[in-house]
Amino acid sequence: MTRLLFILLTGCGLIGCGQRAASPTTETAPSTALSAPQVSTSGYIKYWPGTLPIVISVPHDGAIMPPEIPDRTEGVTVRDTYSRALAEAIRAALIKKFGRAPHLIVCEISRKKVDCNRELAVATQGHPKAIQAWQEYHGCIDRAEQSVLAQTPHGLYLDIHSHGHPNKRIEIGYLLKPADLKLTDHELDTDATVRARSSIRQLGRLTPTGFAELVRGQTSLGGLLEARGLAAVPSPKQTLAAGEPYFNGAYDIAAHGSRDKAQLDGIQLEVPVQMRDTTEHRAATALALADALEVYFERHFRMKLTTDPVGR
Ligand SMILES: [Zn+2]
Repeated sequence: MTRLLFILLTGCGLIGCGQRAASPTTETAPSTALSAPQVSTSGYIKYWPGTLPIVISVPHDGAIMPPEIPDRTEGVTVRDTYSRALAEAIRAALIKKFGRAPHLIVCEISRKKVDCNRELAVATQGHPKAIQAWQEYHGCIDRAEQSVLAQTPHGLYLDIHSHGHPNKRIEIGYLLKPADLKLTDHELDTDATVRARSSIRQLGRLTPTGFAELVRGQTSLGGLLEARGLAAVPSPKQTLAAGEPYFNGAYDIAAHGSRDKAQLDGIQLEVPVQMRDTTEHRAATALALADALEVYFERHFRMKLTTDPVGR
């Protein structure tokens, strides 16, 4: 309810992400450099608007430790190292490939103070300044999604994380549990309740392929990344072994994906260290993802990312 109220207020312009970008024409002149972001009122959330139907967020790579906000005493507080730099590389790769930028939202406050990928109470422990940063982060993602939906009927939200699991592959989260991924292709295609509990529920209905193909086929995001040299699960090559650790997604893609509402489809990407730890590795990961997204959008959204909906 709190978040809903905030969204309504944001929509009315009473609370926003703060100052406008210095140059509103930046996106019309493709550049791989980061333009000036909008900065939230708290100062902890940055938002780079875009015109692609893609919204990217980074909740767990903040370093700011405001002394007035107490450290969180429950939940995970580990930092997702290099996830912001990877998201920036992805943004640059998308601009280079499509001539347009995705929306990018970054939380700069430490996860020790606020966890933007958790429910409000766990995320903030009730501290007003932590609540403010959390609301601003989600308000910016909502604004970005509304901006996408004002131009196109569909779009994709990507929540970027990093993991340290022994199996060094990208873990793609759709809110589907390991038990869901063990179902047969026929079950995935015909049991609509599986699709209904995923963060890509809308896309599951829209795609001309079956749901199994969308989740783990050759043209799934995992399949397209594997074909470009990035190991990923689920995909045609990678399955989950019994008991193997796997991040299937959390609050962000539940709140901003399509499981519960008609908004963008949401996917969580958990990236292993060797795909994010150096400038070269991040550029390679970002390029493969940009190439994969071109095919993914054409195949499943039936949308060409090179086509500018506003004709600029
Ligand atoms: Zn994370």
